[in-house]
Amino acid sequence: MARHFDVVVIGGGPAGYVAAIRCAQLGMNTACIDQWRDRQDRPVLGGTCLNSGCIPSKALLESSEIYDQAQSSFSMHGVKCGGVTLDLNAMMVRKDKVVATLTQGIAGLFKSHKITWVTGHARLLPRKQVEVHEDGESKGQLIEAENIILASGSIPAEIDAAPLHGDLIVDSSGALEFPEVPARLGIIGAGAIGLELGSVWRRLGSQVVLLEAQPEFLTITDSQVAGEALRQFTSQGLDIRLGARVLGCRILENHVELEYQDHGGDHRETVDRLIVAVGRRPNTRGLFAPETELLLDEWGVIHVDEQCRTNIPGVYAIGDVVRGPMLAHKGSGEGIMVAERIAGQQSSVNYDTVPSVIYTLPEIAWVGKSEQALRAAGTNFRVGVFPFSASGRALALGNTAGMVKIIADAATDRVLGVHMIGPHCSELIAQAVIAMQFSASSEDLAMTMFAHPTLSEVFHEAALAVDGRAIHIARARRR
Ligand code: FAD
Ligand code: NAD
Repeated sequence: MARHFDVVVIGGGPAGYVAAIRCAQLGMNTACIDQWRDRQDRPVLGGTCLNSGCIPSKALLESSEIYDQAQSSFSMHGVKCGGVTLDLNAMMVRKDKVVATLTQGIAGLFKSHKITWVTGHARLLPRKQVEVHEDGESKGQLIEAENIILASGSIPAEIDAAPLHGDLIVDSSGALEFPEVPARLGIIGAGAIGLELGSVWRRLGSQVVLLEAQPEFLTITDSQVAGEALRQFTSQGLDIRLGARVLGCRILENHVELEYQDHGGDHRETVDRLIVAVGRRPNTRGLFAPETELLLDEWGVIHVDEQCRTNIPGVYAIGDVVRGPMLAHKGSGEGIMVAERIAGQQSSVNYDTVPSVIYTLPEIAWVGKSEQALRAAGTNFRVGVFPFSASGRALALGNTAGMVKIIADAATDRVLGVHMIGPHCSELIAQAVIAMQFSASSEDLAMTMFAHPTLSEVFHEAALAVDGRAIHIARARRR
């Protein structure tokens, strides 16, 4: 006999658990099925983001940054602390505690919202039925629902040239668990994961070599920001090799020998550990029976419309398993939209204002269109740029690298994109998102008052600079 719910969500990551909570808030009898188990083999909610993505990586970024600062920049502030040593185990224990606090928090939220948490692997069947199997169980339980939300997330992409090998060649999950600091660390892919985890291990003492296939650095962001980022990371000691095509890997006892090719010819590189960070792909493994006729595109991405409806009536898909950036907040936004649509509301997601952040130091953040994209589309625009080096607050922080760039439509002055690199840009970008969400012009931002001394003033000055009237900059540097 099948159990019946108003809504069943498959996947308890930031897309799925948020959708489940919103459905419950709207009065729907909701179940969320998730297969994730922690290292102690206990079922946990939170998906990739909480268990092996956003949260543990940010915990390590923070800890490694403190360690690095204690060695390199505390003395600049007149703070002397000799004999700084690393307790990697304690750092990992702290990271695990942060993760556990949050995953248990979601279990608590489920309880308080009376959401039924079902553990095990779910498979969509025809007629809006779902079969759930715990590991090793021969017969699963059957669940049916009026509406089903697929939120099964993504998994790391693999490449034939570097197949995972124990703890020597790992994906991002393995790279969050190294038991000691590798003396020499190789990373394939200089994207978000490569740069964040490369920063962590460099700060902890590794020599880090990043092999990036693209001839240009960080093509997903504005080229001026990418250029500044490359300068900063290189000066920190990250060895970023562009246009590098990995041909193969050999395991030599406790090392990995990489063979790669770039414009200069063939090269070999020996590292103690290798991280493969070449992107992620949608996770649809065993997610649906073929008879459901669920439509995927050629990349294995579940096909959905703007409202996250699949080709099967009453079945939705959200988060990393559908088109768009693989970001936690994008999936959560889709979860809320779908829950509200099921409840009959007219909600939508504004895909033009999804912010992106790379949590390196300096941080990189952007929203909206880049200059390159606008130029390619033939849009006329004006640009205002302001450097953190002219900010009193950045100087007081001792963190003056980078700038804020605001791009506004030449005719309407509406803000089309904001790109930044510098201190606390992960927080500053929210101002740009709000501005764009409310269709602000650069003039609106220029007329707004910002507290002094704050990093936000750099955002204000960039808005003034769109019209060539930034205050705290010599005339020659105005654009
Ligand atoms: P997931 O979080 O992957 O969750 C899917 C869940 O579904 C999992 O728990 C999985 O076990 C479960 N599941 C899958 N199939 C089934 C099934 N058939 N039955 C039952 N359960 C199933 N994004 C950011 O926005 N900011 C960041 O700082 C950030 N940092 C990251 C750092 C790293 C190292 C990584 C790897 C990713 C990072 N991301 C970040 C990306 C972010 O983690 C994902 O975009 C986000 O987790 C996607 O959410 P989701 O709910 O779609 O999928
Ligand atoms: P990514 O797409 O950000 O970067 C992958 C990089 O690998 C690209 O630069 C690509 O050119 C390169 N690459 C691909 N194949 C290669 C090959 N064979 N050899 C060398 N280089 C190769 O992917 P990622 O860093 O793996 O991250 C996966 C996803 O997780 C991303 O979509 C990202 O949105 C998300 N994520 C987000 C954050 C964040 O929001 N701060 C942090 C980590 C991950």
